[in-house]
Amino acid sequence: MSKVGPVVSDAAESVPRLIRLIRQPGPDGVGVFSITKDRRTQFYVFKEIPCAIGGRGFAVHRLGLASLYHVRVGMPRECSCECLGFLAHGRCKHLQGLAALIGHDLL
Ligand SMILES: [Zn+2]
Repeated sequence: MSKVGPVVSDAAESVPRLIRLIRQPGPDGVGVFSITKDRRTQFYVFKEIPCAIGGRGFAVHRLGLASLYHVRVGMPRECSCECLGFLAHGRCKHLQGLAALIGHDLL
């Protein structure tokens, strides 16, 4: 891994979750962030994709697994993710992680 970016904590969670921008999106638009919770870290490759319906769209792929999620970040009504957590609860770590990075002007 290259240099580690700033750490962002997700205050909305009861157990603090740390979101770290591992790699700024390069010329290919591909970046990497990690989410750490309970001392476990998962790495995600992401790429911003065009989004014509409001908000910013991202394809997020968890490393080591086949799951690929399309995440949309924007105003509350513009937010969505394809994972089961979002479908069940209307919120998820992918969305919150990207929103935290955007909120800190890291993306
Ligand atoms: Zn999700």
